[in-house]
Amino acid sequence: MTTALYWFRQDLRLADQPALLAALQSHARVLLCCPLPAANARSRHGWLRIGPMRLAWHLQAVAGLRRAVQERGGELVVVDRPAEEAVVDLSRQAGLSVIYCEHLATPEELAEVAALRAHGLEVREYSQSTLLAAEQLPFEVATLPAVFTDFRRRVEEAGAQPRAPLPAPCDLHCTRSGMADDPSAATRLADPSVQAFRLFDDNRFEGSEAAGQAYLADYFAGYRPRSYKETRNAVLGVDGSTKLSPWLATGALSARTVMACLRRHEAGHGANESTYWIWFELLWRDYFKFWCARHGARVFTARALGKEVPAFDAQALERWRSGTTGQSFVDAGMRELATSGFLSNRMRQVVASYLVHDLGGDWRAGADWFESCLVDFDVTSNQGNWAYLAGRGADPRAGRRFDPEWQAERYDAQGAYRRHWGT
Ligand code: FAD
Repeated sequence: MTTALYWFRQDLRLADQPALLAALQSHARVLLCCPLPAANARSRHGWLRIGPMRLAWHLQAVAGLRRAVQERGGELVVVDRPAEEAVVDLSRQAGLSVIYCEHLATPEELAEVAALRAHGLEVREYSQSTLLAAEQLPFEVATLPAVFTDFRRRVEEAGAQPRAPLPAPCDLHCTRSGMADDPSAATRLADPSVQAFRLFDDNRFEGSEAAGQAYLADYFAGYRPRSYKETRNAVLGVDGSTKLSPWLATGALSARTVMACLRRHEAGHGANESTYWIWFELLWRDYFKFWCARHGARVFTARALGKEVPAFDAQALERWRSGTTGQSFVDAGMRELATSGFLSNRMRQVVASYLVHDLGGDWRAGADWFESCLVDFDVTSNQGNWAYLAGRGADPRAGRRFDPEWQAERYDAQGAYRRHWGT
């Protein structure tokens, strides 16, 4: 009887899980393991890499996954240790040597897999976080178009469409191992403040796959997708854009699952410019995933694809971070980010541009602060967007400055946003 281990990474779901299904189809027993992120890891500036709101959201996704596994007769072993260490130890205890997981093409995640291989484990990786698989693209990832517009145009000309999402496995009895969670993992998952956390103080926004699926179904059953293009730049309130990114970030929802709902909505209500634009934005997400894979560790250096090393001004950075620059629109945005764990795309652009182009600050410090705060932090979307704005990424222009006065006039004409998030 062969046994394998499934290692959950940024795919905290049961639906649309080719990697998990491959493990279940190939092995009689599959040990399910989910390591928790380190609570105290710090960035180079001393900030928590995963702040309390993102951590709570992530733990909710893990707790939801464990419930879903149990409902199907299985067991998920949740551990409070670095992934490499936990996966190696559990494999030894269970006497197995084959690991299944999703493939993540960013340096830290590649290093984790390399460490497992260095311990003699066979790691079988599956790419399952993008809408389109690399082999569906009309070019090699190594020759990815340098700008998004060319990427999108060539993908659309080739008629590439996401594959249908796979259903969740119904029976997980073969995952029963009798192994217990780490006591500290169990304590972290049971923390009442974690369980009580609701993004936007809105009961729909809980981190589990089940909550994500319910929100997704509700979103596409209603009117919002029909006017997405006109409302997506709203800076106040929940309803302007889809707000699917927090579940996409943990993998509680797959992009293909979102896309399948979008296509069903279009089949029932008709496609329009707004529904097209949701696909368009999801393609940006894919683009940055492939872009990070294409450029590798270079994207994480100070220059990225640019020429000069950025300046670093600790005082300006602190004013930006604490929302005390004196620029009221930017300051409101920075307070929203720190207080709520979220920021609209428009405000992300405004505050990021201000740090880089008005304060002359280091784009990577800004990216690190976003990493700490954003509930929907996704390393490829974050790094890609920051580098783009700083003129060090996939941008035909040399960086994008957003004039905060003009932006405030256009997107907060009555000042409601600044009053809401003001001091
Ligand atoms: P919607 O407008 O409803 O878009 C639907 C989906 O399309 C999103 O959920 C997201 O998956 C994708 N998408 C939309 N815009 C982008 C974009 N510019 N780049 C990549 N994907 C996009 N997004 C993250 O998910 N995680 C991050 O860490 C992140 N950091 C960012 C940093 C900066 C400086 C900027 C300018 C943008 C960043 N974004 C990031 C992209 C974007 O702001 C968010 O995806 C979006 O605001 C999430 O809200 P939504 O789900 O309502 O998006």
